[in-house]
Amino acid sequence: MNTSEQRIKIALQKSGRLSEESLDLLTRCGLKFTQSKDQLFCYGENMPIDLLFVRDDDIPGLVSDDVCDLGLVGLNVLEENRLGASKAGKLAAYDQLRALNFGQCRLSLAAPEDFDFQGPQSLQNLCIATSYVAILEDYLQQENIKADIVYFSGAVEIAPRLGKADLICDLVSTGSTLAANQLREVETVLESEAVIIQTSAETSDDKQCWIDRLMQRLDGVLQVRESKYVMLHAPRGALDDIVALLPGSESPTVIPLDRNGDKVAVHAVCRENVFWETLENLKGAGASSLLVVPVEKMLA
Ligand code: ATP
Ligand code: ZN
Repeated sequence: MNTSEQRIKIALQKSGRLSEESLDLLTRCGLKFTQSKDQLFCYGENMPIDLLFVRDDDIPGLVSDDVCDLGLVGLNVLEENRLGASKAGKLAAYDQLRALNFGQCRLSLAAPEDFDFQGPQSLQNLCIATSYVAILEDYLQQENIKADIVYFSGAVEIAPRLGKADLICDLVSTGSTLAANQLREVETVLESEAVIIQTSAETSDDKQCWIDRLMQRLDGVLQVRESKYVMLHAPRGALDDIVALLPGSESPTVIPLDRNGDKVAVHAVCRENVFWETLENLKGAGASSLLVVPVEKMLA
């Protein structure tokens, strides 16, 4: 039996843009939990893995302090924490295990539509509003620019209109919030997505075994999201062309369909999305009876 010390704790965002996909990812890894996600804590039923629901800003600290073993958080929050800690002379004690392929956004500089942006040098001596002070400071330092930074904890996009800043540095995904505030994205400072981190503190062999197992399942889940199983019929003579057209597939299975083997069935796992164009090209190369089905689980 596992005592609470031996159980793995994973920190997730309680409610926000990362919550649903974080929980969905862990559920797909086969984890089952007793309580609903509006509770602060979920007890893992089938593995010694529990969930802690917190604000995303608290996740790097909880993992760094070894309160939680793992955490799922945006790279933007992680970088801000890491650079902030380093400025305070501390070391953020976590390792990034995997990028999770959701929560994509970018931390960008945006300026009023009529601002003449010629590159980072246009920022010299101006005032920039942001919630990401450490990342912006680091960027300005690398670009050798002196500019003032004003901290806004939210609604950064209204700062120029309030006369509080010339530009802003904020998260963007579609750009619609910027457009609604007559702002234009001029430069990307950081590309971000959700990542999973592990504490750098010493982990018992028993716990590490479970973490490795979870990571192996996670790799499978991340891979199948894009993967498709493709089945088709083909004349043997067209096999090379057809195999070359299958996206991200290593060694398809070839099964003879008639006695002399002139016609074959090809089954392949394609590790990239299969688009209509790909199917049309396969048909053009001689394939018929094409079938594309989703892959549910995969274990390398
Ligand atoms: P919390 O209450 O947990 O502090 P929050 O308001 O700081 O929540 P959300 O707006 O839920 O955070 O965003 C969480 C994360 O989602 C961001 O840090 C970022 O990594 C990611 N994200 C993806 N797209 C966007 C976007 N368009 N705007 C803001 N964040 C985004
Ligand atoms: Zn937050």
